[in-house]
Amino acid sequence: MSKDSEVRVRFAPSPTGQLHVGNARTALYNWLFARKTGGTMVLRIEDTDLERSESRYEDQMLDDLKWFGIDWDEGPDVGGPHAPYRQSDRLAIYREHAERLVKEGKAYLCFCSQEELERDREVAMAEQRSPLYSGKCRGLDPAESERRRASGEAAAIRLAIPEHPIRFHDIVRGMVEFSNEAVSDPIILRSSGIPVYNYVVVVDDALMDITHVIRGDDHLSNTPKQVALYEALGWPVPEFAHLSTIVGSDGARLSKRHGATSIANFREMGVLPEALVNYLALLGWAPTGGNREVFTPEELCKEFTLERVTPSAAMFDMEKLYWLNRHYIKQGPPERIEKLAEAYFIKAGLLPENPDEQTRAWLSKVVALLVPSVNKLDELIERAGLIFRVDAAAALSALDNADVLGAPKANEVLAAFAEQVESDAAPMTPDRFKAIMNEVKAKTGTKGKDLYHPVRIVFTGSHSGPEFDKLIPILEEGSQLALPTHVMNTQERLAAFNAAQAV
Ligand code: GLU
Repeated sequence: MSKDSEVRVRFAPSPTGQLHVGNARTALYNWLFARKTGGTMVLRIEDTDLERSESRYEDQMLDDLKWFGIDWDEGPDVGGPHAPYRQSDRLAIYREHAERLVKEGKAYLCFCSQEELERDREVAMAEQRSPLYSGKCRGLDPAESERRRASGEAAAIRLAIPEHPIRFHDIVRGMVEFSNEAVSDPIILRSSGIPVYNYVVVVDDALMDITHVIRGDDHLSNTPKQVALYEALGWPVPEFAHLSTIVGSDGARLSKRHGATSIANFREMGVLPEALVNYLALLGWAPTGGNREVFTPEELCKEFTLERVTPSAAMFDMEKLYWLNRHYIKQGPPERIEKLAEAYFIKAGLLPENPDEQTRAWLSKVVALLVPSVNKLDELIERAGLIFRVDAAAALSALDNADVLGAPKANEVLAAFAEQVESDAAPMTPDRFKAIMNEVKAKTGTKGKDLYHPVRIVFTGSHSGPEFDKLIPILEEGSQLALPTHVMNTQERLAAFNAAQAV
């Protein structure tokens, strides 16, 4: 695919678990940068940790990324000029370059056993030194080492870290320098033939012509080893941009104990992808000038620059995400929101599988009624309790109804209301309801709260709630539908209330 820019970025998840917000933000910033610059987005699957990698996680990650609105130009599913894009399919490439480094004297064979290395590490810790590799095998004669390996001795390959400080440029942090003394010669290929992350990532980024490595700052301390590898392999070092850590409100790294953190969690909760994209874009990046906060993905693609990514930790603020989600739920085309909402009602057993047209039309009114009061779509089910699950006995004993029901004229209002409703078996309408309330008002001499709050309790179990004009048609029409949970109409609600009161 011909592109109008040389920029090539990659998102390189390890399929060892769910895609969480930190990784999703990394994917998003790569994607925004690629789309802004007209560059290429590569998806690479880093599955060299054979024990922890699972293909079901890979499938789910791809699915979550697509839901999130991110696409890629090259990747395991779409192919591309640098295929394969799954590291477990590239083992021969890693072996070839590691052997080249050994031949060129930039890497060496290491025969130290696990136990030996473990012992050295313990000694270093006890002496309060950093547990760096002693460099024991670095001085071995290469020809002798080759003989030992040929005779069957297990050998790993280690990179010889250069004797000078390692510097690299990071777009977010500026110049970063590590003393070579802080970096010990890393293993690049284990004696089992399995290569290690710091090595494969460099081979892949170089061979895939990646120009900008944008990733989480948990990889910052890996970068000097990677820079040393680029130098040893004779390849140009890319630009780096390390994104700050996402923390919870307590300042600790965001984790499950802070609540939802995986993309699947947010999706299940009924957070819209555009809300999550908007929120994560602002979590560590700010647009030039102004404090505008609402951006569509297209607008973000225009505005995004790596220069405006902040190095300070980003605090995850659920309330702000909810605020954006409410915005997008209200803005969204009603048919789309209804379709999404429908799945929650079906799952909760409130609607049949495959609702008919009439039921769908009714649901659209229910959704319009309830949506203004939810942060996320799964809250619709609890809110829908006022339609599906009014419990008259619970309403009568609820503490926060006590003042309303105990008011001097409450019983008079309720009796007058009942008398009016029962005087005519025809279905309730908003107009008839208005006329009834005018009668009750005249008869009892009450108005406002004293008049309406007790009546509200009859309808919904609570003295606050939605407008009667919208609620009444929903209850009347709902009672006519064949739903798994019957919706009581006005008459039925009144009868249930009176029965509970009589107990
Ligand atoms: N596979 C690594 C991870 O999931 C990312 C490596 C990188 O971006 O360099 O953390």
